[in-house]
Amino acid sequence: MKIGAPREIIEGEARVAMTPDSARALQKLGHACLIEAGAGAGAGFSDAAYAEAGVEVVADASALFAAAEVVVKVREPRLEELERLRRGQTLISFFWPAQNEAALEAAKARGATVVAMDMVPRISRAQKMDALSSMANIAGYRAVIEAGANFGRFFTGQVTAAGKVPPARVLVVGAGVAGLAAIGASTSLGAITLAFDVRPEVAEQIESMGAEFVFLDFDEAAQDGAATGGYAAPSSPEFREKQLEKFRELAPDIDIVITTALIPGRPAPKLWTEDMVKLMKRGSVIVDLAAEKGGNCDLTVPDARIVTDNGVIVIGYTDFPSRMAAQASTLYATNIRHMLTDLTPEKDGTIVHNMEDDVIRGATVAHDGEITFPPPPPKVK
Ligand code: NAD
Repeated sequence: MKIGAPREIIEGEARVAMTPDSARALQKLGHACLIEAGAGAGAGFSDAAYAEAGVEVVADASALFAAAEVVVKVREPRLEELERLRRGQTLISFFWPAQNEAALEAAKARGATVVAMDMVPRISRAQKMDALSSMANIAGYRAVIEAGANFGRFFTGQVTAAGKVPPARVLVVGAGVAGLAAIGASTSLGAITLAFDVRPEVAEQIESMGAEFVFLDFDEAAQDGAATGGYAAPSSPEFREKQLEKFRELAPDIDIVITTALIPGRPAPKLWTEDMVKLMKRGSVIVDLAAEKGGNCDLTVPDARIVTDNGVIVIGYTDFPSRMAAQASTLYATNIRHMLTDLTPEKDGTIVHNMEDDVIRGATVAHDGEITFPPPPPKVK
């Protein structure tokens, strides 16, 4: 099959769904690869590097969509991209079907098959295709780098001839994939790192990474904020009050707060309130990774960096993976390549869209003129 990656059209998006290395691997599966001219530029991959990897560079999106049998993309398709799809063609991309009914209808009307990378079931076998995790990992790491670039001091403590420097104190709220990556980056830079999550089972993971789990003075059974599948459930009002009380107590001594708390299908819980920001020292930094879902901090402005009256910097960027486009593209293109490996069982360049396969079925949101979202629950763990 001909697999093609167009240039991403959403403004500021620097990632690309195919790299020269992923294209080499796809060719080993019997596929031919195409790329739109300039598609890899934002991530540091030149047209020449693709050509050298055996990829055909085509002039524009119209030529790419016309020639490719499978189109691979990063960001959810815009209408102009959906309109280019045709019967029998497959699109593999982030898609967010629950929020994009119009896009699902458009894919159905075009008769195309859509594999949504955000719908890959989070089961062990599918970890290699779990693009949500690979992007969350980057976001968590980059949040710490971004905080460091805005913080006027070292992360690590130092005793130098020029004076003693205390270590930075970092609090990570939410210890899922992004939070754990932030904890790893923060401790490796030498900061004293504290972390909190409503799921008490992550305490061990947090401590094994050299951070301190923030325990609440709360009945243990009631503290368990875990729902099914490793995700969080909304907290009770009493629990939330305890949590806010604890954060208020910590706020004056915390230099950097990285918030990553999310509850599937809901707006982000507000956990770092305006009064906590007021309690923080001048020069402190808050990076809110939940900005896209409304933010964990009261003062977050999505896609912006603001400085409060008391000199606290609040960062609400929503494009952290794109800010590390080379790394993000490499990991995402690998996730896509693994998806295509499963879709090419004989490694002979023939796509077999096996709707009996839990992972393929779970991620397929439109198939041959039908909407196939939501999928039935997966049979295996
Ligand atoms: P997420 O992005 O939905 O949420 C981030 C974190 O915020 C979660 O840890 C959640 O517990 C936490 N949170 C929610 N409300 C909070 C609050 N009020 N205060 C503090 N923290 C709060 O989660 P995620 O990163 O997608 O991962 C969720 C889980 O799924 C993790 O346990 C992860 O290990 C698991 N997971 C499993 C697989 C797999 O098996 N293939 C893949 C990825 C993730």
